Amino acid sequence: MDFPFALALHGGAGTISRTLMTAEAEQKYRLALQAALETGYDVLRHGGAALDAVQTAVISLEDCPLFNAGRGAVFTHEGHHEMDASLMDGRDRAAGAVTGARHIQNPIRAARLVMEKTEHVLLAYPGNEELAREYGLAMQPAEYFFTQHRYDQLQEALTEGRMRLDHSQAKVPLAEPAAFVDEDPKKKMGTVGAVARDQHGNLAAATSTGGMTNKRYSRIGDSPIIGAGTFADNRTCAISCTGHGEFFLRAMVAHDIACLMEYRSLSLAEACRIVVHDKLAPVGGEGGLVAIDGTGQIALPFNSDGMYRASLSSKGSLYVGIYKD
Ligand code: ASP
Repeated sequence: MDFPFALALHGGAGTISRTLMTAEAEQKYRLALQAALETGYDVLRHGGAALDAVQTAVISLEDCPLFNAGRGAVFTHEGHHEMDASLMDGRDRAAGAVTGARHIQNPIRAARLVMEKTEHVLLAYPGNEELAREYGLAMQPAEYFFTQHRYDQLQEALTEGRMRLDHSQAKVPLAEPAAFVDEDPKKKMGTVGAVARDQHGNLAAATSTGGMTNKRYSRIGDSPIIGAGTFADNRTCAISCTGHGEFFLRAMVAHDIACLMEYRSLSLAEACRIVVHDKLAPVGGEGGLVAIDGTGQIALPFNSDGMYRASLSSKGSLYVGIYKD
């Protein structure tokens, strides 16, 4: 039980600037990130599995209307919610994912069911909801996922006539009206995710998202795609991504980092730098990720203005960050 254990998480990356964030809003984001971190870390502290820790942390973020996942999910073109989630176990590369879920309160729980109760990896809607109901997962009507600021973002996106990443500071969230600002409605990202290494040396990763505002045609981003938005393998690393999904899909970001470590023996930090800054940034692939390797080293790289992020290690102190500097 001498292994360092650690957990890192994100709540989305994008144009998040200090000048436009109110002190009150910042405090709310920090507290929500810290609460999710601590609930996941507690699992590790008590000897629990990395997989349970990342799921616990992601559920906490899914339940928080500040983030674009679960309760705070963005709207599709048609005005509903289509949520994606995935998780992966670094022990044996077992994985589960769902796309387009509309009523599952915590899509990450459904991803776990896919992994453990079926012989599949990825289930689309409505099959994933059939599975969720079969196993008694909490389901919610559309109103549960309604937040005024996400609805306003959809109206703006419809006017602009394009799909948008909408995850940073929210304008008028239903639950906490006073605390939010909306600094740049055209460039916002989100998604939530977590990675962990437990006391037994195992890695895991989990990611959950509402996707992009005004998405249509059952669009699917990187978040539920194993190897793109989520990846975990004890031999290399665990990764959860956030950013413009189309770019992360084409770069197979999470798996690419693992490959650089496996085939070129690069460190986690170096592999992350190459993929996030050298490959994604030049082509406009804005976003970032949280990563952890087999020794418990953490990397939180992003090429956007900011990324909601937090980490805690048995060998280090608690860190919560939002901006670049
Ligand atoms: N990657 C997510 C998607 O493209 C969005 C995000 O992370 O903000 O669906």
